Amino acid sequence: MAGRAHFSIQRNGTLLLSSSSFFHNSINFGLTHLKNPNFFRPKGLSYSSRGALYCSCSASNGLEKQLSSDPFVLTTPLYYVNAPPHMGSAYTTIAADAIARFQRLLGKKVIFITGTDEHGEKIATAAAASGSSPSEHCDVVSQAYKELWKDLDIAYDKFIRTTESKHEAIVKEFYAKVLASGDIYRADYEGLYCVNCEEYKDEKELLDNNCCPMHLKPCVSRKEDNYFFALSKYQKRLEDTLQQNPGFVQPSYRLHEVQGWIKGGLRDFSISRAAVDWGITVPNDTDQTIYVWFDALLGYISALSEDKEHSDLQSAISSGWPASLHLIGKDILRFHAVYWPAMLMSAGLDLPKMVFGHGFLTKDGMKMGKSLGNTIDPKSLVDRFDSDAVRYFFLREVELGNDGDYSEERFINIVNANLANTIGNLLNRTLGLLKKNCNSTLPVDSAVAAEGNTFKDSAEDLVAKARTEYENLAISSACEAVLEIGNAGNLYINERAPWSLLKQGGDAFEAATKDLVIVLEAMRIIAVALSPITPSLCLRVYEQLGYTEEQFNAATWNETKWGGLKSGHVMAQPRPVFARIEVQKEEEDVAQVVKKVSKKKAKIPQVQTVAEA
Ligand SMILES: [Zn+2]
Repeated sequence: MAGRAHFSIQRNGTLLLSSSSFFHNSINFGLTHLKNPNFFRPKGLSYSSRGALYCSCSASNGLEKQLSSDPFVLTTPLYYVNAPPHMGSAYTTIAADAIARFQRLLGKKVIFITGTDEHGEKIATAAAASGSSPSEHCDVVSQAYKELWKDLDIAYDKFIRTTESKHEAIVKEFYAKVLASGDIYRADYEGLYCVNCEEYKDEKELLDNNCCPMHLKPCVSRKEDNYFFALSKYQKRLEDTLQQNPGFVQPSYRLHEVQGWIKGGLRDFSISRAAVDWGITVPNDTDQTIYVWFDALLGYISALSEDKEHSDLQSAISSGWPASLHLIGKDILRFHAVYWPAMLMSAGLDLPKMVFGHGFLTKDGMKMGKSLGNTIDPKSLVDRFDSDAVRYFFLREVELGNDGDYSEERFINIVNANLANTIGNLLNRTLGLLKKNCNSTLPVDSAVAAEGNTFKDSAEDLVAKARTEYENLAISSACEAVLEIGNAGNLYINERAPWSLLKQGGDAFEAATKDLVIVLEAMRIIAVALSPITPSLCLRVYEQLGYTEEQFNAATWNETKWGGLKSGHVMAQPRPVFARIEVQKEEEDVAQVVKKVSKKKAKIPQVQTVAEA
């Protein structure tokens, strides 16, 4: 489906969940208010396959309630296995994982779906080129995705492969529903086809020599007798849906793009291929296979099906459909915001609540491409720098929705400044002082230590801001707010200089130990609030603060409230939590190193431990 992702522009302010109140614990959810009026469609509000899809009554006040028992279902695209995983897929999946982890912190039941799209002409071609069968080829690439997600700390709940039998059963059932709606017909079609897009193209959208604007390769003329989906019938309903529910496509400027496409007129599209063997056969016509997009989009539903012998559409739907969020790259917006909703309307199923199209990634300011030889291999990046650094860089550096750029120099600078210095170093030197002066034991509750202290107020404001930003899917801004707590902590400790107060004894000693508790309390809050972004690092911080892995895993957003650290609590022996990335010593100028690294493998930056304060 979306191996064709590259990586755009600003986000807008639609909330996934509002920040009106903290959850009191992870079990008792209570009600959460929603900004997006369509986040929750009351269960009692049913509609026919031809009826209105959304209740528009709440659009005026912008608030609707969502029962917290409804799972938060989010999806990445199902990645196309024609080639090994690339950075675009890794970026989408890292962002989806951060959103999933944040929703879990809020106490939501989350179903995070990813997987692989394994049918189609390109797969058959790629398999033949490597001398393997299509299914062997799919096994290898699908496994490579699973391994990469493990390396990147991706905690998905469902991994669907479109070659699974449960998926095939659901695709056929869905096809039958669309057929029964009278939306499938047979016709001859002659047109220009881009094999890489697996799509017939409009001549007016092509470049010179009929080149596909995405792949810059000439499209081929094809004539086929295919089955078509009557997309044109859904023009008005799609227009009305987007009018009544502008939050459906995010960020908002992408909504305008989608509305433009629809306004320009929707043409029926062919949903079968006569010339492609590697696919799901069309029911009642074994000479044709189902179009790879029609097949793959249904993976979002078949993924919900429990693994059992008889999977069916209804049981999959009742396990969590509609999805709360489809996170995709902007290049596959048309499939998700036009084709997919129309298919669902035809089958009489609910639409997903939101389609969010993020931007493209560039490298050193240039578009990435195999022909340019400047792609980023996510596997080698995570092997060199570890998952926290990779996750942090892309989530902090690129605001979700915008285009973003990777450069190794900036990667190293940001990761070192924020994770090694602001967080790692502050924690390490504070714990060092506590060990030396208080035997690693807190002398006072953090709530008592911070009485009347404005540092506590700013930490509370920042963590509230972080929550709002997460809810807005403004992940970079959420990171920034959490890091600001660390910056404020560094400023505070430098101004207070507890190391000199501790030497003075008496009241000065007591005041200094309170300062240490205050900074450590801030670190504890950071460890929870940043855990959607850098889960492994945050676990190490939590363990340094004297907690167990089980306690870390059980923590909810409620733990970001000030006052968790209590008198008598014992901290762990100070150990660096994040290894600073060091470039080799003879290379003073990091920018120079970066250029040489790309030519000479010997110049790979070495990881060293952080210097203790
Ligand atoms: Zn193309």
